[in-house]
Amino acid sequence: MSLEQRCIEKGMRMTEQRRVIARVLESSTDHPDTEELYERASRVDSNISISTVYRTVSLFEEAGIIERHEFRDGRARYETVPENHHDHLIDLKTGRVIEFTNEEIERLQQVIARELGYRLVDHRLELYGVPITTKKDDGKR
Ligand SMILES: [Zn+2]
Repeated sequence: MSLEQRCIEKGMRMTEQRRVIARVLESSTDHPDTEELYERASRVDSNISISTVYRTVSLFEEAGIIERHEFRDGRARYETVPENHHDHLIDLKTGRVIEFTNEEIERLQQVIARELGYRLVDHRLELYGVPITTKKDDGKR
């Protein structure tokens, strides 16, 4: 189901500008922040204002159709709620966000929650790392 359809299903009134923002979000393969979304949306419709983008993403977020991430760089980034769960590794050097899934981690989280007397309903996992450099490509020598 498209993001637009999900919005309609949630009873949201879909203006043309909201549609544009929904489409931009959906076609983004990275995790854009509001400014990046604004840039992309205004390429489609130059009348879209940054405040419209702000309002629309918070509306989408409240409706639970997009997820907000804060990867410790002070920016709120967004992505559509993925069909298949994934976690994130953030490259502290470049800011690149890498998506991954690991069955063992997923299983372990269930085990931990259960041991603490809970049924796991959601989780977030963010790994922060710097690329491992070998001596050969370490420019300092
Ligand atoms: Zn992601």
